[in-house]
Amino acid sequence: MVSKRMLGLGTARSVIRELFEYGNQRAAVIGRENVYDFSLGNPSVPAPDAVNETAIRILKEQPDLIHAYTSAQGAPDARQRFADSLNRRFGGDYTADQFYLTVGAAASLCCVFNGLTCPEDEFIVFAPYFPEYKVFIEGAGAKMVLIPPEIEHFQIDFDAFQKALNPHTKGVVVNSPNNPSGVVYSQETLERLSEILRQKEAEYGHPIYLISDEPYREIVFSGVKAPWIPHLYDDTIVCYSFSKSLSLPGERLGYVLVPGKVADSKEVYAAVAGAGRSLGYVNAPSLFQQVVSLCCDMTSDLSVYEHNCKLLVPALREMGFHVAEPGGAFYLFPRSLEPDDKAFSERAKQFDLLLVPGSGFGAPGHFRLAYCVQTEMIERALPKFKELADSYR
Ligand code: PLP
Repeated sequence: MVSKRMLGLGTARSVIRELFEYGNQRAAVIGRENVYDFSLGNPSVPAPDAVNETAIRILKEQPDLIHAYTSAQGAPDARQRFADSLNRRFGGDYTADQFYLTVGAAASLCCVFNGLTCPEDEFIVFAPYFPEYKVFIEGAGAKMVLIPPEIEHFQIDFDAFQKALNPHTKGVVVNSPNNPSGVVYSQETLERLSEILRQKEAEYGHPIYLISDEPYREIVFSGVKAPWIPHLYDDTIVCYSFSKSLSLPGERLGYVLVPGKVADSKEVYAAVAGAGRSLGYVNAPSLFQQVVSLCCDMTSDLSVYEHNCKLLVPALREMGFHVAEPGGAFYLFPRSLEPDDKAFSERAKQFDLLLVPGSGFGAPGHFRLAYCVQTEMIERALPKFKELADSYR
C-alpha cells in the first residue's frame, strides 16, 4: 500500500512532459531542427563565465571544506551576501538571519506553505498560474483558491479576488514577471492588491501573507518596471531562485526571505525553517551557496529573451493572434484560435509546433509559448505559425 496522492502525482504525466516525449519521437523521424519545441522553460543562454570560474576557484582553494554540511538554513556568509545585494539594489535593511537557502523556488514555496498552514487555511492564486502551486499548497494541507484570469491584460480581476477573500485566507501568491503569461504586474495593480489586503487584515484581525514567487525578477524588458513588492506590502515573503537569472536550474539554489517587517517575522522564519527540516530541505548545495552568493549581482545575458519576444509578438499579432503585452520572463500566453486549447495544441503538432494548452495553467482558450530557445529557431518557426493560423481561416 502506498499513498494514493503520491502515487497519483508520481504516475500522472504532465502535458508538458507528454509534449516533450512527442517532440523526441518526432525529432527521430524528421530531424531535431524540424521540430519547433516551445514547451519547456529551460533557460537558453549559458550562465556567466564568472559562475564557472568561481566554482573552479573555490574547488581549488577550499577542496576540504566546500563539500561539508553548512547550517541547515545556509552558510552565514552566503546569506549575508544575499542580504547585502538586496540592500544595495532595493534599499532595504535585510539581514542574513532573514534568509533560508533552499533548492530553488519550488522548495522555497513548499517551505513557506508548510510553515504557514494551520487547519482550514486557504491560499489565493491568480490564473494563469504555475501549476505546481496546487501540488505544493495541497501538499501542505491547505486549500488553493483560484481566481479566474483577467484575459485582456492578465493583471488581476479584483472583483473576483475580493469575493474570494475570507477569514480562512492565510496568504495570496503572486508571480510577476509571470509564468505563463510573461506579464509584469503594474505598480497600480500591486498597490491596489496591497490596499485590499491591509483592509482585510484589519477586518479579520490576522495577517494575510503575500507570497511573492519571483524566479523571473531579473528578466524585465526595457521600459517596464517591476516594483519590489516588500516595499509596497509589509507582510510579503519572497521566494527567489537563481534558476533563470543565472541560468542554473540544475544547480538548485534559491531562498526564502522573511523581512523583519512581516507580522510575527521571527516566528514565520522559524516555521519556514521547521518546514525545511520536516521536508528534508536543509543545507542547500554547499558549493553553489558560495558560487551563487559570490555572483548574485550578475545575470546571464538576458537580452536574448527580449529580442526573441520582440520578434514573436508583432508577427503573431499580424497573423491574428491576441497576445497580452508581455513585460518579462520568457513566455507568451496568446489566445488559441479555437476555444478548445487542447484541440488547438493538437492541431499545432501537424505543423511541428509544440505549444502547451492553457487549461493546465487555469486559463482555457490560451496556449503557452516558451521562447527561451535559439532565435534562429523562432525565425524558422514563424512561417509554421502562419500556416497554423491560415488553417483556421
Ligand atoms: N515558480 C515559477 C513561476 C516557475 O516558473 C518555476 C520554474 O519554472 C518555479 C517556481 C520553480 O523554480 P526552481 O527551478 O527554482 O525550483
